[in-house]
Amino acid sequence: MAKIQETIAAQLSRYSIAGYDNIKQHVILSVALAFCIMAHTYLLVFFAMGKIEPLIIANIGSLAIYYFTAAFLIKRRRYLIIRTIIVCEVSLYATFTGYMFGIGNYIIGNFLLILVLQLLLPYGDLWYRWMLSLFSISLMVFSFSLGYITAPVLVLPDFENGIFIAANICIMLFGTCIEIKIEQIILSVIDESHKYSLEKATLAANTDALTSAYNRRYADEYIENLQASSPNVNFCVAMVDADKFKEINDVLGHDVGDQVLIHITKYFQTHLRQNDMLFRWGGDEFLIILKEITLPQAHGVLDRVRKQLIDTPFQAKNQAVNISISVGVAEFDLCNPYASIERCDQNLLVSKQRGRNMVYSGL
Ligand code: GH3
Ligand code: MG
Repeated sequence: MAKIQETIAAQLSRYSIAGYDNIKQHVILSVALAFCIMAHTYLLVFFAMGKIEPLIIANIGSLAIYYFTAAFLIKRRRYLIIRTIIVCEVSLYATFTGYMFGIGNYIIGNFLLILVLQLLLPYGDLWYRWMLSLFSISLMVFSFSLGYITAPVLVLPDFENGIFIAANICIMLFGTCIEIKIEQIILSVIDESHKYSLEKATLAANTDALTSAYNRRYADEYIENLQASSPNVNFCVAMVDADKFKEINDVLGHDVGDQVLIHITKYFQTHLRQNDMLFRWGGDEFLIILKEITLPQAHGVLDRVRKQLIDTPFQAKNQAVNISISVGVAEFDLCNPYASIERCDQNLLVSKQRGRNMVYSGL
């Protein structure tokens, strides 16, 4: 049974924040960052050779943005902000380059890329993506109007202009592939994060905060599932109650009482079969559902665990605590589950009346 809890814990750690930062994602993000830096450095050299000061400044600014956004992206996962910054950076850069060199395919491509990405990669609210798209469209209209009204500030010789446009198109194509890959990673991280939150919330709703055993709410759900999935299997149900637990609380303190409850939970979780289920029913009472077992077998198993529990010394606050339990067992009729639980509750009462520290099944 402990394995079930372990599996859930393992599933949760698989989704843990550390789990996201696997080597593959780091490699892709590092390659993307290296590419952006290389592309900007190439343009920087080009602008420096042409002594185009405003573009040199814009380029250094962009480099800083890419460096910090990538660092931000890896550490804080503020994807929407990063996306906004990158969209603004590329849009403004395209506008400015268009103003300096005239409008060309490169600029149209860049604006279209931004628009398409807003539609293709759906994270962030729709209104937010529309706002970014409208911003890009406005800049595109502005760039084209400016391109028709004014002449380019700088006219490059044909050969350099050719290299410039070819290089820009390459940057745009590779940049698109890399951005799509990064956005896929982001989407998968968001998806994993949702799964993680959901599993965490489900686990919290189904387990008891003190002992981490499944709670009574989950017992109802589990029984409903059993009725659907295993109608023809033999089950037994047992109610376990700690003996004279009030005395432990009164004499040794509530803290020790808590530790005893945790100890009993762990004890059953490690000494029952994987298919058996333990639930904290309330206070010092636990319900156990044993699968594929007859009543005499269930009686035998629980009596063995009861004896072992007494023989296992338990220390709390440097003193030995004697723990014993009383158990009532009954066959579990899936057609009348709550009548069966009532019957094993009655059997528990008989155990208590007959002096405690025993299993009673009516046999
Ligand atoms: P009996 O042998 O007849 O079962 O006697 P008992 O003293 O164990 O009586 P009972 O089962 O009715 O006592 C349950 C006690 O468990 C009462 C309550 O104060 C205590 N209790 C309930 N929940 C918790 C808890 O989460 N932590 C601690 N420390 N005590 C709890
Ligand atoms: Mg009790």
